Amino acid sequence: MIKNNRYSRQILLNKIQNEGQEKIAESKITIIGCGALGTNIANNLARCGIGQITVVDRDIIELNNLQRQNLYDEKDVGLPKASVLSEKLQNINSEIRINSIVDDINNKNIEKIIKKTKIVLDGTDNMLTRFLINDACVKNDIPWIYGGAIETEGMTMNIIPHKTPCLRCLIENIPKPGSLPTCDTIGVLNTIPNVIANIQSTEAIKIILNKEINNGLIVYNIWSHDFNNYKIKIRENCKCCGKHNFEYLKKEKKEEIISICGSGAIQITPENKMSISFEDLLFRLKKVGKVDIHPMVLRVKINDYEINIFRDGRAIIIGTNDKKMAKSLYAKYIGL
Ligand SMILES: [Zn+2]
Repeated sequence: MIKNNRYSRQILLNKIQNEGQEKIAESKITIIGCGALGTNIANNLARCGIGQITVVDRDIIELNNLQRQNLYDEKDVGLPKASVLSEKLQNINSEIRINSIVDDINNKNIEKIIKKTKIVLDGTDNMLTRFLINDACVKNDIPWIYGGAIETEGMTMNIIPHKTPCLRCLIENIPKPGSLPTCDTIGVLNTIPNVIANIQSTEAIKIILNKEINNGLIVYNIWSHDFNNYKIKIRENCKCCGKHNFEYLKKEKKEEIISICGSGAIQITPENKMSISFEDLLFRLKKVGKVDIHPMVLRVKINDYEINIFRDGRAIIIGTNDKKMAKSLYAKYIGL
């Protein structure tokens, strides 16, 4: 029995009741990406009493995130999204367990992160990570809920491995870099990610309760109110769910330099993880710029650039879209 009345309004729902609430309390979920979708999903599911929530994000909060990434506020700018979000969620609901992972999700860590999770929720902003989630979830038989939002339109689809089409049944191959619009190039209205996140959260609750779920690709435009629920077929010989050729889990990881959606920022992930002493770095960098240290990230401002360094050697360099410039700043000031 549920002892207190925190959840009384949803226990009243015929669809949930005490029995459903117990299932919700026993569930473990993982939210990958703590941006506009991820923060809204996390907010919904923490409040409704999901027993254990793991939030994963590699980025730090920037001022331009506040327009749509609910739960963050001005004093959080510059701090890692996943750790700030977990603190906020714990304040919202102290009765559930929240884990935060400030890391780049990749083929080396994803299976460990999603292990024992009942559902994975997509709060990412890029297709490469979604294809990786698709491989990992299909391989490990874990349901996941795809979501995306851009401009005034969003989409979502439930993927139940071997029962419904997977992401590669819908999109066979990742579109070429630069061929898709991003929130960096065409923008996003802050109301559409909320709608998509609310659908994703509702479908997650339905999966937990073993209820019938939506079986199509929902596409909704919040400006024109065009709504479609497309039926998608399982692709014959799908590389992922048909042939079990999990290409994205096998990809070799090299040093990676990418630009980050929504900002003039570049992320550098070194080939091998390292363990950086912030104290040593502070000693060196305080001579050249203004340094701030947070438990998870060291930030140094040098001229027009801001270099954010994580303990594993990953860095986010703000103030440039130029990969060569970012790499040279990394080499010059971190020099690892
Ligand atoms: Zn498939």
